[in-house]
Amino acid sequence: MKKNIVLVAHDDKKPDLLEWARFNQMLLKQHELYATGTTGILLEQELGIAIHKLQSGPLGGDQQIGAKIAAGEIDLLIFFWDPLTTQPHNADVQALLRIAVVWNIPVACNRASADFMISSPLVSNTYQRFLPDYHVYVERMTSDETEPLKKVLVD
Ligand code: PGA
Repeated sequence: MKKNIVLVAHDDKKPDLLEWARFNQMLLKQHELYATGTTGILLEQELGIAIHKLQSGPLGGDQQIGAKIAAGEIDLLIFFWDPLTTQPHNADVQALLRIAVVWNIPVACNRASADFMISSPLVSNTYQRFLPDYHVYVERMTSDETEPLKKVLVD
């Protein structure tokens, strides 16, 4: 079963991700791959793997991935973020990690986690991702109790 897998690495972690991806390229090729701009270019150049490239992370790529997760288009996130370097787009990095948790997307932030993730039999099988019931949250502005608040917001 083909999965939509996102690969992202901060600059100091790109060598790590490239090495990991080279080692796992046969597995990765069986799936649909997405990456932020620079990570994607490097993966394509070095491994010859076809990648859907989004914007570079600092230019909005992390947010694009977050939007895809919220739209239900992503199955796995492999995100080698750098714990030792301040990122100009740290807010986007935090937002991406947060939205992955909101939608219960598996996230691997280092090589050991990525090894465990990619070698799981679930990667090549159908996996029913459990989702918290967000209906109450989504419907919260439609109940009678919030009618006065809705009126204030609309007026
Ligand atoms: P990049 O972005 O692949 O364009 O370098 C990664 C990131 O910083 O999120």
